[in-house]
Amino acid sequence: MAKRDYYEVLGVSKTASEEEIKKAYKKLAIKYHPDRNPDDKEAEEKFKEAAEAYDVLHDPQKRARYDQFGHEGVGGAGGFGGGFGQGMSMDDIFSMFGDVFGGRGGFGGFGGGGRQQRQRRYRGSDLRVKVRLGLKEILNGTEKKFKLKKYVTCSHCHGSGAEGNGATETCPTCHGSGSVTRTQQSIFGMMQTQTVCPQCNGEGKIIKNKCKECNGEGVVYGEEVVEVKIPKGVAEGMQLSMSGKGNAGKHNGIAGDLLIQIEEEPNSELIRQEDDLIYNLLLSFPTAALGGTVEIPTIDGKVKVKIDPGTQPGKVLRLRDKGLPNVNGYGMGDLLVNISIYIPETLSKDEKQAIEKMQHSDNFTPNLSIKEKIFRKFKSFFD
Ligand SMILES: [Zn+2]
Ligand SMILES: [Zn+2]
Repeated sequence: MAKRDYYEVLGVSKTASEEEIKKAYKKLAIKYHPDRNPDDKEAEEKFKEAAEAYDVLHDPQKRARYDQFGHEGVGGAGGFGGGFGQGMSMDDIFSMFGDVFGGRGGFGGFGGGGRQQRQRRYRGSDLRVKVRLGLKEILNGTEKKFKLKKYVTCSHCHGSGAEGNGATETCPTCHGSGSVTRTQQSIFGMMQTQTVCPQCNGEGKIIKNKCKECNGEGVVYGEEVVEVKIPKGVAEGMQLSMSGKGNAGKHNGIAGDLLIQIEEEPNSELIRQEDDLIYNLLLSFPTAALGGTVEIPTIDGKVKVKIDPGTQPGKVLRLRDKGLPNVNGYGMGDLLVNISIYIPETLSKDEKQAIEKMQHSDNFTPNLSIKEKIFRKFKSFFD
């Protein structure tokens, strides 16, 4: 089934503010909430779909990637592996509620009480890598392998952080409640705030015997080789993300993302302008006057191009589809050949004599209509 556009899912415009997105999501979350729609598969799907759309659109970075690359940019279409859709459990969705419903306890109203004390899962941090690409790799798309130094799940305890049978004991900080209460003096008088217990992270229990390999963290510093598929048409400054390929989260938490920053190798002959490429062709004066055939470099090798007799400097030839593919799949750019004419810096005696003969010939003197024609072309460059 094709994935629906996230803006469409939430029923907001592409320019919607963060506040509008939050409001739209809140409405849908209440409408399709499982407590309100028991055993309704369709409502559950709608609930998850809205949560996924919200997760991407309320995060400015993810939203920008989504706007640029669509579902692929945020790992939703499978291309960027590990995607959101496959990895999101109801627990993850409920853990998102805090920032929509104004605090963990805020989602009351219709009986979902049991979920309010849900523990917050640890999340590993994101990792960033840079990848430098030549025009050929940008033309065809490519795959890159990275050997990443990062936190990985401890293989000794499989991420649990426990040694042996995994026995636990009641957390001494919160005495098993999973939360701690702080009393603070404020301008409204004494305020009590409840937060998740920092020692047990809300679980109410701590591990009795910590794993010796990871000291109870569930993660160790290690290495992973990650293969990244880079789509065609990317450009300097773009960022791709692979969800779940960053640092592993403690205690089998959620892994962070791998963020891949694109850098472009400068090309010695071709200049990139969005999806188009520009080549500056320096024609010899006789070829410009007499016409001929010249070779033009493209990313894929040289092509032969015919030059008409009487070709003027400043003329631009357009080689269709010889540019770069659009990253969003909107076709190919062109190769624009900008023509300059080479005038020799020094002349032999014979050359000088031959050219002097042309100097006063009417045919070699630009007339008014030629001047106007060339001026119009020059002017159109700045319009
Ligand atoms: Zn361990
Ligand atoms: Zn505790």
